Amino acid sequence: MPTSAAVPSPPPPPPVRVDQTRMRIEKMESDRIERRQRAREMRDVRAEEEGRKDPSLGDVDFVMLIRRWREEHAGMARSHDCDDVIVDDVAGGGTTSTSKSTITHARSSSGGEGKRICVCVRKRGMDQREVRMHEHDAVTIFHPTATVHSPRLRVDGYTKYCDHNTFVFDHSFDECSSTEELYGHVALPLVRYVLCRGGSDTMACSRRGSFVGGGVVPLGTVFAYGQTGSGKTYTMRGIQKMVAEDVFAMLAAEKDSDDDDDDDDDEIVGQRQRQPLPRSSEDTIVSIAMFEIYGTKIQDLLNNRNRLKVLEDGKGEVVVSGLGEYEVSNPSEFASLIERGHTHRTTHATEMNDASSRSHAVCQILLREKGNGRLMGKLCLVDLAGSERGNDTKCHDRQRRTESSDINTSLLALKECIRAIDTGSGYVPYRQSKLTLILKDCFVSKFARTAMIATLSPGSGSTDHTVNTLRYADRIKEKKVVVGGPS
Ligand code: ADP
Ligand code: MG
Repeated sequence: MPTSAAVPSPPPPPPVRVDQTRMRIEKMESDRIERRQRAREMRDVRAEEEGRKDPSLGDVDFVMLIRRWREEHAGMARSHDCDDVIVDDVAGGGTTSTSKSTITHARSSSGGEGKRICVCVRKRGMDQREVRMHEHDAVTIFHPTATVHSPRLRVDGYTKYCDHNTFVFDHSFDECSSTEELYGHVALPLVRYVLCRGGSDTMACSRRGSFVGGGVVPLGTVFAYGQTGSGKTYTMRGIQKMVAEDVFAMLAAEKDSDDDDDDDDDEIVGQRQRQPLPRSSEDTIVSIAMFEIYGTKIQDLLNNRNRLKVLEDGKGEVVVSGLGEYEVSNPSEFASLIERGHTHRTTHATEMNDASSRSHAVCQILLREKGNGRLMGKLCLVDLAGSERGNDTKCHDRQRRTESSDINTSLLALKECIRAIDTGSGYVPYRQSKLTLILKDCFVSKFARTAMIATLSPGSGSTDHTVNTLRYADRIKEKKVVVGGPS
């Protein structure tokens, strides 16, 4: 029996609604492209009006906001030799906020030569990567201040504004300042201090003998702190080169003056008891040790990356067991040894996918008395791990997470230990990390001087890290002093 096959009905046309939705989406997309194109053209026109040669250098609206801020605040800038800007003491320090500007005053009355802690910042110039990424320069240095201009968007989604965070330090160096300039203000006072018998605090020193009372070893420590790529190693290497020159020049100068002055011993003993007595190359051996702290591992950078152990004896003395110490007798020997240490660090860094940003490198310059080898002075130059690593704790890689947590712990412990010097607090939490344990003397000795150099990347893509770096440096000093005020 024939069956009547049902004729298949044609598929229903797609609902009109879907078509309209698709069309609306396409229209939105083309509008967006057009809007972006228009914005780009307007930006270029405005940039041209502004007289900027390369309109690709950052968002012109933010650039203009920052430029205006700089014009309005140019009066904040001081000369590095001008020390009379301290206006008022603020007990416990303070942060003054205006609607969009914040000024944090971290300049203590103790900074620079003869002072226990000196905190400074150094901004480098924009680098190729930042220019390629169309970032703009978002950091302004008006010594002694450093300001970060963080780009922000209002809730309406298109009005741009900047958060201006200003901090005040002992010294602020901009991209035009040389390492020599920074060295002269920040590190040279420590080199002089370490080379003088007892430094400027210990006036009671005799010409041929060691310190009256004994046991006084002047210590100077310079830290470079900042985000990876901000210029820590660049600055530290420059300082190391200058230290190499100056240590031997100072020792030689003192030897010459010793030879000239031999007849007037008694008179000089009297004078030197008022002024600190520098060492001379006649009675001093200079030696160098370099090591790296990578997580809980400590490795000798001058001796095949040998693993080292940190030991604290019953008397509380901390020793890095097995650390090689190499004698140098002139600036070029000094420089080539330091170069060897750097080569070991960098080679390893490449193998380990930039381990240098995850390790602290310590370079110690030791002055020992000829004959008995007694330590007479020590200068430590510390290139710290990248500060952004400490925040990297959400990383999925377990090893990275552990590294980040170690860095975080050590940088926090370091801040607390330096703060303890400033506040005179009896409690110094130096056992909280390997870094602070090794540097214990630098925090507990009455004869220790410290300088902290916070290095800054200027790019607008780094403003969050830059503000964190400045906050860290700012927190190091407890005693705050107001310089000027918000305008
Ligand atoms: P970090 O040690 O903080 O990771 P580096 O010292 O390696 O950073 O610096 C990153 C790059 O920036 C290097 O190429 C360095 O030469 C350059 N640089 C850093 N600071 C300065 C500066 N003040 N002037 C010129 N170039 C700099
Ligand atoms: Mg580095």
